[in-house]
Amino acid sequence: MQEFSLIIDGEKVAAHQYFDVINPADKSVVARCPQASLEQLNTAIAAAKAAFPAWSALSYAERRDHLLQLADALEANLERLTTLLTQEQGKPIHGFANLGAGFELNIALDWIRKTASMTLPPEVIQDNDAAHIAIHRKALGVVGSITPWNYPLLIGIWHMIPALITGNTVVIKPSEMTPLTTLYFGALANDILPKGVLNIVPGAAEIGGAMSAHKDIAKIIFTGSTPTGKTIMKNAADNLKRLTLELGGNDAGIVLADADIDAVAGKIFATAFINNGQTCAALKRLYVHEDVHDALCAAMTNIANSMKTGNGLDADTDFGPLQNEKQLNIVKELAQDAKDNGANFLCGGEVLDETGYFYPITLVNNIQDGVRLVDEEQFGPILPIIKFTDVETAIASANRSSVGLGGSVWSSDIENAQRIGARLECGTVWINNHAMLQPDAPFGGVKGSGFGVAFGEAGLKEFTSIQTMQTAK
Ligand code: NAD
Repeated sequence: MQEFSLIIDGEKVAAHQYFDVINPADKSVVARCPQASLEQLNTAIAAAKAAFPAWSALSYAERRDHLLQLADALEANLERLTTLLTQEQGKPIHGFANLGAGFELNIALDWIRKTASMTLPPEVIQDNDAAHIAIHRKALGVVGSITPWNYPLLIGIWHMIPALITGNTVVIKPSEMTPLTTLYFGALANDILPKGVLNIVPGAAEIGGAMSAHKDIAKIIFTGSTPTGKTIMKNAADNLKRLTLELGGNDAGIVLADADIDAVAGKIFATAFINNGQTCAALKRLYVHEDVHDALCAAMTNIANSMKTGNGLDADTDFGPLQNEKQLNIVKELAQDAKDNGANFLCGGEVLDETGYFYPITLVNNIQDGVRLVDEEQFGPILPIIKFTDVETAIASANRSSVGLGGSVWSSDIENAQRIGARLECGTVWINNHAMLQPDAPFGGVKGSGFGVAFGEAGLKEFTSIQTMQTAK
Protein backbone atom coordinates (compact mmCIF):
# COMPACT_ATOMS: atom_id res chain seq x y z
CA MET A 1 0.00 0.00 0.00
CA GLN A 2 1.39 3.41 -0.96
CA GLU A 3 2.60 5.64 1.89
CA PHE A 4 1.64 9.33 2.08
CA SER A 5 3.15 12.16 4.13
CA LEU A 6 2.15 15.61 5.24
CA ILE A 7 3.99 18.34 3.38
CA ILE A 8 5.25 20.99 5.79
CA ASP A 9 8.04 23.50 5.23
CA GLY A 10 9.54 21.58 2.34
CA GLU A 11 9.62 18.29 4.24
CA LYS A 12 7.62 15.08 3.95
CA VAL A 13 6.45 14.71 7.51
CA ALA A 14 4.93 11.69 9.31
CA ALA A 15 1.79 12.12 11.37
CA HIS A 16 0.94 11.01 14.91
CA GLN A 17 -2.33 9.53 13.64
CA TYR A 18 -3.53 8.01 10.37
CA PHE A 19 -7.02 7.40 8.97
CA ASP A 20 -8.29 5.07 6.26
CA VAL A 21 -9.23 6.37 2.82
CA ILE A 22 -11.98 4.13 1.46
CA ASN A 23 -12.50 3.08 -2.16
CA PRO A 24 -16.24 3.70 -2.67
CA ALA A 25 -16.46 0.98 -5.34
CA ASP A 26 -15.68 -1.89 -2.94
CA LYS A 27 -15.19 -0.29 0.51
CA SER A 28 -11.56 -1.46 0.60
CA VAL A 29 -8.81 0.72 2.11
CA VAL A 30 -6.93 2.59 -0.65
CA ALA A 31 -4.30 3.92 1.73
CA ARG A 32 -3.77 5.24 5.25
CA CYS A 33 -3.73 9.03 5.25
CA PRO A 34 -1.66 11.08 7.66
CA GLN A 35 -3.80 13.28 9.87
CA ALA A 36 -2.24 16.66 10.71
CA SER A 37 -2.31 17.71 14.37
CA LEU A 38 -3.13 21.27 15.39
CA GLU A 39 0.53 21.72 16.24
CA GLN A 40 1.54 20.58 12.74
CA LEU A 41 -1.02 22.94 11.25
CA ASN A 42 0.58 25.82 13.19
CA THR A 43 4.02 24.77 11.93
CA ALA A 44 2.71 24.68 8.36
CA ILE A 45 1.19 28.16 8.66
CA ALA A 46 4.41 29.51 10.20
CA ALA A 47 6.40 27.99 7.33
CA ALA A 48 4.09 29.54 4.75
CA LYS A 49 4.40 32.90 6.51
CA ALA A 50 8.20 32.66 6.52
CA ALA A 51 8.27 31.73 2.82
CA PHE A 52 5.98 34.59 1.80
CA PRO A 53 8.45 37.53 1.52
CA ALA A 54 10.80 35.74 -0.89
CA TRP A 55 8.04 34.11 -2.96
CA SER A 56 6.02 37.31 -3.31
CA ALA A 57 9.18 39.23 -4.28
CA LEU A 58 9.68 37.04 -7.36
CA SER A 59 8.40 38.33 -10.68
CA TYR A 60 5.34 36.79 -12.31
CA ALA A 61 7.66 35.21 -14.89
CA GLU A 62 9.78 33.57 -12.17
CA ARG A 63 6.75 32.19 -10.36
CA ARG A 64 5.27 31.06 -13.68
CA ASP A 65 8.41 29.04 -14.41
CA HIS A 66 7.98 27.15 -11.15
CA LEU A 67 4.29 26.51 -11.78
CA LEU A 68 4.87 25.31 -15.33
CA GLN A 69 7.28 22.75 -13.88
CA LEU A 70 4.43 21.62 -11.65
CA ALA A 71 2.32 21.06 -14.76
CA ASP A 72 5.11 19.02 -16.34
CA ALA A 73 5.40 16.89 -13.17
CA LEU A 74 1.64 16.33 -13.17
CA GLU A 75 1.75 15.35 -16.83
CA ALA A 76 4.57 12.87 -16.20
CA ASN A 77 2.47 11.24 -13.42
CA LEU A 78 -0.90 11.41 -15.14
CA GLU A 79 -1.48 7.69 -15.37
CA ARG A 80 -0.75 6.97 -11.70
CA LEU A 81 -2.78 9.97 -10.56
CA THR A 82 -5.74 8.98 -12.74
CA THR A 83 -5.89 5.54 -11.12
CA LEU A 84 -5.50 7.04 -7.65
CA LEU A 85 -8.31 9.51 -8.36
CA THR A 86 -10.59 6.66 -9.43
CA GLN A 87 -9.65 4.67 -6.34
CA GLU A 88 -10.28 7.43 -3.83
CA GLN A 89 -13.18 9.24 -5.52
CA GLY A 90 -14.92 6.47 -7.45
CA LYS A 91 -15.26 8.23 -10.82
CA PRO A 92 -14.37 6.07 -13.83
CA ILE A 93 -11.00 6.34 -15.52
CA HIS A 94 -12.73 7.00 -18.88
CA GLY A 95 -16.47 7.07 -18.19
CA PHE A 96 -19.52 8.32 -20.06
CA ALA A 97 -18.55 10.62 -22.97
CA ASN A 98 -14.96 10.25 -21.75
CA LEU A 99 -15.66 12.70 -18.89
CA GLY A 100 -13.90 10.59 -16.23
CA ALA A 101 -10.77 10.89 -14.12
CA GLY A 102 -8.37 11.10 -17.06
CA PHE A 103 -10.35 13.96 -18.60
CA GLU A 104 -10.42 15.78 -15.27
CA LEU A 105 -6.66 15.61 -14.78
CA ASN A 106 -6.04 16.78 -18.32
CA ILE A 107 -8.26 19.75 -17.53
CA ALA A 108 -6.21 20.33 -14.38
CA LEU A 109 -3.06 20.34 -16.48
CA ASP A 110 -4.47 22.86 -18.94
CA TRP A 111 -5.72 25.00 -16.05
CA ILE A 112 -2.27 25.16 -14.44
CA ARG A 113 -0.61 26.14 -17.70
CA LYS A 114 -3.15 28.82 -18.58
CA THR A 115 -3.47 30.28 -15.07
CA ALA A 116 0.29 30.27 -14.49
CA SER A 117 0.68 32.41 -17.60
CA MET A 118 -1.65 35.16 -16.35
CA THR A 119 -0.41 38.38 -14.72
CA LEU A 120 -1.89 41.38 -12.92
CA PRO A 121 0.32 44.30 -13.99
CA PRO A 122 -0.14 47.72 -12.33
CA GLU A 123 -2.93 49.73 -13.91
CA VAL A 124 -2.23 53.42 -14.56
CA ILE A 125 -5.49 55.33 -14.22
CA GLN A 126 -4.08 58.85 -14.47
CA ASP A 127 -0.86 60.33 -15.80
CA ASN A 128 -1.04 64.10 -16.28
CA ASP A 129 0.41 67.36 -14.95
CA ALA A 130 -1.34 66.85 -11.60
CA ALA A 131 -0.39 63.29 -10.69
CA HIS A 132 0.55 59.79 -11.74
CA ILE A 133 -1.90 57.33 -10.21
CA ALA A 134 -1.39 53.58 -10.46
CA ILE A 135 -3.25 50.66 -8.95
CA HIS A 136 -0.94 47.90 -7.78
CA ARG A 137 -2.16 44.42 -6.85
CA LYS A 138 -0.30 42.97 -3.87
CA ALA A 139 -0.31 39.38 -2.64
CA LEU A 140 -2.19 38.86 0.61
CA GLY A 141 0.15 36.52 2.51
CA VAL A 142 -0.77 32.98 3.54
CA VAL A 143 -3.84 31.58 1.78
CA GLY A 144 -5.70 28.69 3.40
CA SER A 145 -7.45 26.36 0.97
CA ILE A 146 -10.17 23.92 2.05
CA THR A 147 -11.44 21.55 -0.64
CA PRO A 148 -14.33 19.06 -1.09
CA TRP A 149 -14.37 15.45 -2.27
CA ASN A 150 -16.07 15.70 -5.65
CA TYR A 151 -13.13 16.97 -7.77
CA PRO A 152 -10.41 16.77 -5.13
CA LEU A 153 -7.25 17.62 -7.05
CA LEU A 154 -8.84 19.79 -9.75
CA ILE A 155 -10.47 22.06 -7.16
CA GLY A 156 -7.20 22.09 -5.19
CA ILE A 157 -5.46 23.32 -8.35
CA TRP A 158 -8.18 25.93 -8.86
CA HIS A 159 -7.29 27.21 -5.39
CA MET A 160 -3.52 26.81 -5.33
CA ILE A 161 -2.41 28.05 -8.73
CA PRO A 162 -4.05 31.53 -8.75
CA ALA A 163 -2.95 32.00 -5.12
CA LEU A 164 0.64 31.06 -5.95
CA ILE A 165 1.01 32.95 -9.23
CA THR A 166 -0.09 36.18 -7.54
CA GLY A 167 2.63 35.71 -4.90
CA ASN A 168 0.82 34.13 -1.97
CA THR A 169 1.95 31.03 -0.11
CA VAL A 170 -0.52 28.24 0.57
CA VAL A 171 -1.66 25.81 3.25
CA ILE A 172 -4.17 23.36 1.81
CA LYS A 173 -6.49 21.00 3.68
CA PRO A 174 -7.97 18.46 1.28
CA SER A 175 -11.23 16.71 2.12
CA GLU A 176 -10.69 13.83 4.54
CA MET A 177 -12.66 11.65 2.09
CA THR A 178 -10.26 12.20 -0.84
CA PRO A 179 -6.87 13.54 0.30
CA LEU A 180 -4.57 11.21 -1.65
CA THR A 181 -4.33 12.83 -5.08
CA THR A 182 -3.62 16.18 -3.43
CA LEU A 183 -0.89 14.61 -1.28
CA TYR A 184 0.60 12.87 -4.31
CA PHE A 185 0.63 16.14 -6.23
CA GLY A 186 2.05 17.91 -3.17
CA ALA A 187 4.96 15.48 -3.03
CA LEU A 188 5.75 16.34 -6.66
CA ALA A 189 5.42 20.06 -5.94
CA ASN A 190 7.71 19.72 -2.95
CA ASP A 191 10.61 18.94 -5.28
CA ILE A 192 9.90 22.04 -7.36
CA LEU A 193 8.72 24.89 -5.13
CA PRO A 194 10.85 26.68 -2.51
CA LYS A 195 10.25 25.30 0.97
CA GLY A 196 7.19 26.52 2.80
CA VAL A 197 5.47 27.86 -0.32
CA LEU A 198 2.99 24.95 -0.43
CA ASN A 199 2.01 22.96 2.67
CA ILE A 200 -0.53 20.13 2.87
CA VAL A 201 -2.32 19.25 6.09
CA PRO A 202 -5.09 16.64 5.76
CA GLY A 203 -7.72 16.49 8.45
CA ALA A 204 -11.39 17.09 9.03
CA ALA A 205 -13.49 19.91 10.53
CA GLU A 206 -11.10 20.53 13.43
CA ILE A 207 -8.22 21.44 11.11
CA GLY A 208 -10.50 23.43 8.76
CA GLY A 209 -11.95 25.29 11.72
CA ALA A 210 -8.51 26.13 13.12
CA MET A 211 -7.40 27.39 9.71
CA SER A 212 -10.48 29.59 9.41
CA ALA A 213 -9.77 31.25 12.75
CA HIS A 214 -5.95 31.47 12.47
CA LYS A 215 -4.53 34.98 12.75
CA ASP A 216 -1.69 34.29 10.28
CA ILE A 217 -3.91 33.15 7.43
CA ALA A 218 -4.88 36.17 5.37
CA LYS A 219 -7.55 34.51 3.28
CA ILE A 220 -9.54 31.30 3.08
CA ILE A 221 -10.69 29.94 -0.24
CA PHE A 222 -13.30 27.30 0.42
CA THR A 223 -15.26 25.04 -1.90
CA GLY A 224 -17.87 22.92 -0.20
CA SER A 225 -21.34 22.95 1.26
CA THR A 226 -23.30 26.05 2.23
CA PRO A 227 -23.56 25.12 5.96
CA THR A 228 -19.77 24.65 6.22
CA GLY A 229 -19.26 27.94 4.36
CA LYS A 230 -21.35 29.74 6.98
CA THR A 231 -19.31 28.18 9.81
CA ILE A 232 -16.06 29.23 8.14
CA MET A 233 -17.37 32.78 7.75
CA LYS A 234 -18.19 32.97 11.46
CA ASN A 235 -14.77 31.60 12.43
CA ALA A 236 -13.01 34.01 10.07
CA ALA A 237 -14.84 37.08 11.40
CA ASP A 238 -12.56 37.87 14.35
CA ASN A 239 -9.57 38.39 12.07
CA LEU A 240 -11.62 40.01 9.29
CA LYS A 241 -10.15 37.33 7.08
CA ARG A 242 -10.86 37.58 3.36
CA LEU A 243 -12.99 34.81 1.95
CA THR A 244 -13.94 33.23 -1.31
CA LEU A 245 -16.83 30.85 -0.71
CA GLU A 246 -17.75 28.51 -3.57
CA LEU A 247 -20.75 26.75 -2.07
CA GLY A 248 -23.61 24.48 -3.00
CA GLY A 249 -25.95 24.83 -5.93
CA ASN A 250 -29.29 23.54 -7.16
CA ASP A 251 -29.04 24.59 -10.80
CA ALA A 252 -32.20 24.84 -12.86
CA GLY A 253 -32.42 24.34 -16.61
CA ILE A 254 -35.40 25.60 -18.62
CA VAL A 255 -36.22 23.80 -21.88
CA LEU A 256 -38.43 25.96 -24.10
CA ALA A 257 -41.05 24.67 -26.54
CA ASP A 258 -38.82 25.41 -29.53
CA ALA A 259 -35.81 23.41 -28.28
CA ASP A 260 -34.48 20.88 -30.79
CA ILE A 261 -34.86 17.80 -28.59
CA ASP A 262 -32.72 15.51 -30.77
CA ALA A 263 -29.91 18.04 -30.58
CA VAL A 264 -30.08 18.86 -26.86
CA ALA A 265 -31.09 15.60 -25.12
CA GLY A 266 -27.54 14.22 -25.00
CA LYS A 267 -26.07 17.46 -23.71
CA ILE A 268 -28.74 17.82 -21.03
CA PHE A 269 -28.03 14.25 -19.97
CA ALA A 270 -24.26 14.82 -19.81
CA THR A 271 -24.48 18.08 -17.88
CA ALA A 272 -26.93 16.65 -15.33
CA PHE A 273 -24.98 13.47 -14.67
CA ILE A 274 -21.37 14.60 -15.01
CA ASN A 275 -19.44 13.02 -12.10
CA ASN A 276 -22.63 11.14 -11.18
CA GLY A 277 -24.36 14.43 -10.40
CA GLN A 278 -21.74 15.16 -7.71
CA THR A 279 -20.90 18.45 -9.38
CA CYS A 280 -21.73 21.79 -7.80
CA ALA A 281 -22.81 23.28 -11.13
CA ALA A 282 -24.49 20.20 -12.62
CA LEU A 283 -28.04 20.58 -13.86
CA LYS A 284 -30.15 19.55 -10.86
CA ARG A 285 -33.74 20.56 -11.77
CA LEU A 286 -35.09 20.48 -15.31
CA TYR A 287 -38.17 22.55 -16.19
CA VAL A 288 -39.52 21.39 -19.56
CA HIS A 289 -42.29 22.94 -21.66
CA GLU A 290 -45.28 20.61 -22.03
CA ASP A 291 -44.92 20.54 -25.85
CA VAL A 292 -41.51 18.83 -25.66
CA HIS A 293 -41.75 17.16 -22.25
CA ASP A 294 -42.65 13.64 -23.41
CA ALA A 295 -40.14 13.62 -26.27
CA LEU A 296 -37.31 14.77 -24.00
CA CYS A 297 -38.20 12.26 -21.27
CA ALA A 298 -38.20 9.45 -23.85
CA ALA A 299 -34.87 10.52 -25.40
CA MET A 300 -33.15 10.84 -22.03
CA THR A 301 -34.55 7.55 -20.73
CA ASN A 302 -33.10 5.85 -23.80
CA ILE A 303 -29.68 7.26 -23.03
CA ALA A 304 -29.95 6.39 -19.32
CA ASN A 305 -30.90 2.79 -20.08
CA SER A 306 -27.73 2.33 -22.10
CA MET A 307 -25.47 3.39 -19.19
CA LYS A 308 -23.42 1.04 -17.05
CA THR A 309 -22.75 1.92 -13.42
CA GLY A 310 -19.88 -0.02 -11.87
CA ASN A 311 -16.29 -0.01 -10.67
CA GLY A 312 -14.51 2.95 -12.26
CA LEU A 313 -11.40 0.86 -12.89
CA ASP A 314 -13.34 -1.26 -15.44
CA ALA A 315 -12.87 0.14 -18.92
CA ASP A 316 -16.55 -0.12 -19.90
CA THR A 317 -17.94 1.67 -16.83
CA ASP A 318 -19.91 4.84 -17.61
CA PHE A 319 -20.60 5.93 -14.02
CA GLY A 320 -18.89 4.90 -10.80
CA PRO A 321 -20.26 4.74 -7.25
CA LEU A 322 -21.18 7.76 -5.17
CA GLN A 323 -18.18 8.93 -3.22
CA ASN A 324 -19.36 8.03 0.26
CA GLU A 325 -22.09 6.38 2.29
CA LYS A 326 -23.45 9.65 3.66
CA GLN A 327 -24.00 10.92 0.13
CA LEU A 328 -25.65 7.65 -0.91
CA ASN A 329 -28.01 7.91 2.07
CA ILE A 330 -29.00 11.48 1.15
CA VAL A 331 -29.79 10.36 -2.41
CA LYS A 332 -31.81 7.37 -1.16
CA GLU A 333 -33.74 9.53 1.28
CA LEU A 334 -34.65 12.13 -1.35
CA ALA A 335 -35.69 9.42 -3.83
CA GLN A 336 -37.94 7.81 -1.22
CA ASP A 337 -39.49 11.16 -0.37
CA ALA A 338 -40.19 11.77 -4.09
CA LYS A 339 -41.83 8.31 -4.36
CA ASP A 340 -43.95 9.08 -1.31
CA ASN A 341 -45.05 12.28 -3.03
CA GLY A 342 -46.25 10.48 -6.15
CA ALA A 343 -43.28 11.05 -8.47
CA ASN A 344 -42.87 8.75 -11.49
CA PHE A 345 -39.49 7.03 -11.90
CA LEU A 346 -38.67 6.70 -15.61
CA CYS A 347 -35.55 4.66 -14.81
CA GLY A 348 -33.32 3.84 -11.84
CA GLY A 349 -34.48 4.63 -8.33
CA GLU A 350 -33.28 1.47 -6.56
CA VAL A 351 -29.90 0.93 -4.90
CA LEU A 352 -27.57 -1.28 -6.94
CA ASP A 353 -24.98 -3.79 -5.85
CA GLU A 354 -24.06 -3.10 -2.21
CA THR A 355 -20.39 -3.99 -2.55
CA GLY A 356 -19.94 -0.25 -3.05
CA TYR A 357 -21.93 2.98 -2.83
CA PHE A 358 -23.71 2.45 -6.14
CA TYR A 359 -26.87 4.23 -7.24
CA PRO A 360 -28.14 4.13 -10.83
CA ILE A 361 -28.76 7.02 -13.19
CA THR A 362 -32.32 8.00 -12.34
CA LEU A 363 -34.88 10.16 -14.15
CA VAL A 364 -38.03 11.31 -12.39
CA ASN A 365 -41.12 13.13 -13.72
CA ASN A 366 -44.60 13.90 -12.42
CA ILE A 367 -42.94 15.97 -9.71
CA GLN A 368 -43.31 19.60 -8.63
CA ASP A 369 -41.62 22.36 -6.69
CA GLY A 370 -41.95 21.80 -2.97
CA VAL A 371 -40.84 18.15 -3.11
CA ARG A 372 -37.43 17.79 -1.45
CA LEU A 373 -35.82 16.23 -4.54
CA VAL A 374 -36.53 19.48 -6.39
CA ASP A 375 -35.93 21.95 -3.59
CA GLU A 376 -32.78 20.55 -1.96
CA GLU A 377 -29.26 20.04 -3.33
CA GLN A 378 -29.37 16.31 -4.00
CA PHE A 379 -25.76 16.04 -5.31
CA GLY A 380 -26.28 12.65 -6.92
CA PRO A 381 -27.46 10.86 -10.09
CA ILE A 382 -31.15 11.80 -10.03
CA LEU A 383 -32.72 14.41 -12.29
CA PRO A 384 -36.25 15.64 -11.52
CA ILE A 385 -38.08 16.76 -14.67
CA ILE A 386 -40.87 19.26 -14.04
CA LYS A 387 -43.43 20.03 -16.75
CA PHE A 388 -44.47 23.68 -17.31
CA THR A 389 -46.96 25.52 -19.50
CA ASP A 390 -46.05 29.15 -18.99
CA VAL A 391 -42.40 30.24 -19.14
CA GLU A 392 -42.95 32.89 -16.45
CA THR A 393 -43.79 30.08 -14.02
CA ALA A 394 -40.57 28.26 -14.97
CA ILE A 395 -38.46 31.38 -14.41
CA ALA A 396 -40.11 31.94 -11.02
CA SER A 397 -39.47 28.29 -10.10
CA ALA A 398 -35.83 28.50 -11.12
CA ASN A 399 -35.40 31.61 -8.96
CA ARG A 400 -37.22 30.42 -5.85
CA SER A 401 -34.11 28.55 -4.70
CA SER A 402 -32.02 29.88 -1.80
CA VAL A 403 -28.86 29.15 -3.84
CA GLY A 404 -27.76 30.51 -7.21
CA LEU A 405 -24.70 28.95 -8.81
CA GLY A 406 -25.62 28.20 -12.45
CA GLY A 407 -28.66 28.03 -14.68
CA SER A 408 -29.46 27.30 -18.31
CA VAL A 409 -31.98 27.91 -21.06
CA TRP A 410 -32.39 25.47 -23.95
CA SER A 411 -33.99 26.82 -27.14
CA SER A 412 -33.58 27.35 -30.89
CA ASP A 413 -34.23 31.07 -30.46
CA ILE A 414 -30.93 32.26 -29.02
CA GLU A 415 -31.91 35.89 -28.39
CA ASN A 416 -35.04 34.90 -26.51
CA ALA A 417 -33.05 32.33 -24.52
CA GLN A 418 -30.47 35.00 -23.61
CA ARG A 419 -33.25 37.36 -22.47
CA ILE A 420 -34.66 34.65 -20.21
CA GLY A 421 -31.16 33.64 -19.05
CA ALA A 422 -30.46 37.21 -17.94
CA ARG A 423 -33.44 36.95 -15.56
CA LEU A 424 -32.08 33.87 -13.75
CA GLU A 425 -30.61 34.53 -10.30
CA CYS A 426 -27.28 32.75 -10.68
CA GLY A 427 -23.58 33.44 -11.21
CA THR A 428 -23.32 31.72 -14.60
CA VAL A 429 -26.01 31.16 -17.18
CA TRP A 430 -25.51 28.85 -20.13
CA ILE A 431 -27.56 28.82 -23.34
CA ASN A 432 -27.92 25.32 -24.82
CA ASN A 433 -25.29 24.03 -22.42
CA HIS A 434 -24.61 23.70 -18.71
CA ALA A 435 -21.71 23.10 -16.30
CA MET A 436 -19.10 24.21 -18.84
CA LEU A 437 -16.16 25.94 -17.12
CA GLN A 438 -12.96 27.34 -18.56
CA PRO A 439 -9.84 29.01 -17.13
CA ASP A 440 -10.58 32.51 -18.44
CA ALA A 441 -14.33 32.73 -17.70
CA PRO A 442 -15.22 33.99 -14.18
CA PHE A 443 -17.27 31.55 -12.13
CA GLY A 444 -18.99 32.10 -8.79
CA GLY A 445 -22.34 32.04 -7.07
CA VAL A 446 -24.98 34.39 -5.72
CA LYS A 447 -27.33 33.97 -2.76
CA GLY A 448 -26.50 30.86 -0.70
CA SER A 449 -23.97 29.69 -3.31
CA GLY A 450 -21.43 32.05 -1.79
CA PHE A 451 -19.40 34.99 -2.99
CA GLY A 452 -16.18 35.77 -4.77
CA VAL A 453 -15.24 34.46 -8.18
CA ALA A 454 -12.81 31.93 -9.52
CA PHE A 455 -10.94 31.89 -12.85
CA GLY A 456 -9.69 34.52 -15.23
CA GLU A 457 -8.41 37.92 -14.23
CA ALA A 458 -11.32 38.38 -11.80
CA GLY A 459 -10.29 35.14 -10.11
CA LEU A 460 -6.64 36.25 -9.76
CA LYS A 461 -7.70 39.53 -8.21
CA GLU A 462 -9.37 37.61 -5.37
CA PHE A 463 -5.88 36.74 -4.12
CA THR A 464 -4.63 40.32 -3.99
CA SER A 465 -5.32 43.60 -2.24
CA ILE A 466 -5.19 46.95 -3.98
CA GLN A 467 -2.48 49.47 -3.23
CA THR A 468 -3.15 52.77 -4.96
CA MET A 469 0.01 54.79 -5.51
CA GLN A 470 -0.50 58.49 -6.17
CA THR A 471 2.62 60.44 -7.14
CA ALA A 472 2.19 64.20 -7.15
CA LYS A 473 3.78 66.16 -9.99
P1 NAD B 1 -18.31 19.90 3.07
O1 NAD B 1 -18.73 21.29 3.33
O2 NAD B 1 -18.86 18.82 3.90
O3 NAD B 1 -16.73 19.76 3.21
C1 NAD B 1 -15.85 20.53 2.44
C2 NAD B 1 -14.54 20.72 3.19
O4 NAD B 1 -14.79 21.47 4.37
C3 NAD B 1 -13.87 19.42 3.63
O5 NAD B 1 -12.49 19.57 3.42
C4 NAD B 1 -14.20 19.36 5.11
O6 NAD B 1 -13.26 18.65 5.88
C5 NAD B 1 -14.15 20.84 5.47
N1 NAD B 1 -14.88 21.19 6.68
C6 NAD B 1 -15.91 20.53 7.28
N2 NAD B 1 -16.32 21.21 8.37
C7 NAD B 1 -15.53 22.31 8.47
C8 NAD B 1 -15.47 23.40 9.38
N3 NAD B 1 -16.29 23.48 10.43
N4 NAD B 1 -14.56 24.37 9.17
C9 NAD B 1 -13.74 24.30 8.10
N5 NAD B 1 -13.73 23.28 7.22
C10 NAD B 1 -14.62 22.30 7.40
O7 NAD B 1 -18.58 19.64 1.51
P2 NAD B 1 -18.38 18.28 0.70
O8 NAD B 1 -19.46 17.35 1.14
O9 NAD B 1 -16.96 17.86 0.77
O10 NAD B 1 -18.65 18.76 -0.80
C11 NAD B 1 -19.91 18.82 -1.36
C12 NAD B 1 -20.42 20.24 -1.36
O11 NAD B 1 -19.50 21.09 -2.02
C13 NAD B 1 -21.72 20.40 -2.13
O12 NAD B 1 -22.59 21.24 -1.42
C14 NAD B 1 -21.28 21.08 -3.42
O13 NAD B 1 -22.28 21.82 -4.07
C15 NAD B 1 -20.17 21.94 -2.94
N6 NAD B 1 -19.28 22.30 -4.04
C16 NAD B 1 -19.31 23.58 -4.51
C17 NAD B 1 -18.52 23.95 -5.60
C18 NAD B 1 -18.52 25.36 -6.13
O14 NAD B 1 -17.65 25.69 -6.91
N7 NAD B 1 -19.47 26.19 -5.77
C19 NAD B 1 -17.68 22.99 -6.19
C20 NAD B 1 -17.68 21.70 -5.69
C21 NAD B 1 -18.48 21.36 -4.60
